[in-house]
Amino acid sequence: MSLLSKNLIQWHNQFGRKDLPWQIKTNPYKVWISEVMLQQTQVQTVIPYYLKFINKYPDINSLANSNENEVLSYWSGLGYYSRGRNLLKTARIIRDEHGSIMPSCLEKLESFPGIGKSTAGAILSLGFKIKAPILDGNAKRVLVRYFKVEDPIDLAKTTKELWNIAEENLPEKECNIYTQAIMDVGSLICKRRNPDCQSCPLVKKCISYKEKVQDLLPRKMPKKSKPTKDLYWLLLENKNGEILLENRSSKGVWQGLWTFVGFEELQSRDDYLSKLPKGYQLIEKGLKLKHTFSHYKLDIDTTLIKINEDFQDFDNNKMWFNRKELTGIGLPAPVSKVLNHSI
Ligand code: SF4
Repeated sequence: MSLLSKNLIQWHNQFGRKDLPWQIKTNPYKVWISEVMLQQTQVQTVIPYYLKFINKYPDINSLANSNENEVLSYWSGLGYYSRGRNLLKTARIIRDEHGSIMPSCLEKLESFPGIGKSTAGAILSLGFKIKAPILDGNAKRVLVRYFKVEDPIDLAKTTKELWNIAEENLPEKECNIYTQAIMDVGSLICKRRNPDCQSCPLVKKCISYKEKVQDLLPRKMPKKSKPTKDLYWLLLENKNGEILLENRSSKGVWQGLWTFVGFEELQSRDDYLSKLPKGYQLIEKGLKLKHTFSHYKLDIDTTLIKINEDFQDFDNNKMWFNRKELTGIGLPAPVSKVLNHSI
């Protein structure tokens, strides 16, 4: 066993996390759901979403038999909604092609929508207690610093090197403890900023610490700045207090979720306003918010309008929703934010 894995396993016995919700009566399904939620999202943010989700969908069949709109309503606010859609797709594949039993084979797991090599490794290691490496953000940071890997981590050759390191350091036994320990050390001690090296079980052999470069690693390729797009939302409320939303059925961001009636051009928004029944009330104009996606930023400008006469617009998958119904559909975080502010 390498010194790295030995020190991590020893440390975990005393200090590691053992009572996260997905660790209680754990199984491969719980590990899968938690790992997908934890991609891009912090543990503390994930916990309430995970508890709600697992309560509603305690196993593969309950998830597979659900529908996309409902699953996305349980994902509302977590962002990166393709993760929720992929969970549903994969649950249906496991139900239909694997008798509702999660396979314990790396290649098979990796072939499912939304399961990459690291998530597959975590399912095997933590869920099945099978020896398999992981390389999530936390594990990557620990390995990069411990072995002082100086090349940018977003280069393919660095990723390959790190997978090799991850595999070489896997212990024969207690792989699940090792996996949890490296995740915990990355998340609690070897943090992105100000790593707490004095409390680290790896401090004695950590090359970055020895050479005082831990704050400089991991390195990344310089980022290109993201373009900004404008979006004009109309928050239309009718005389019954219902809100008009449109479903983003086309491919692209927020696919399958419900958003306000939106326009990329100010002119298109004003053309739409001119079609509303005369005498609508403008309640609030110019509520602004920003939202960042992986490839671009959105500047969102929102106008709240009250329509006192009958108005129907069923084009482009639009529907009126009352307040109770709004809690049961998939809404992107900025829509929830505007709704909380406005009604
Ligand atoms: S000693 Fe410091 S830099 Fe090295 S692995 Fe531990 S926390 Fe990270």
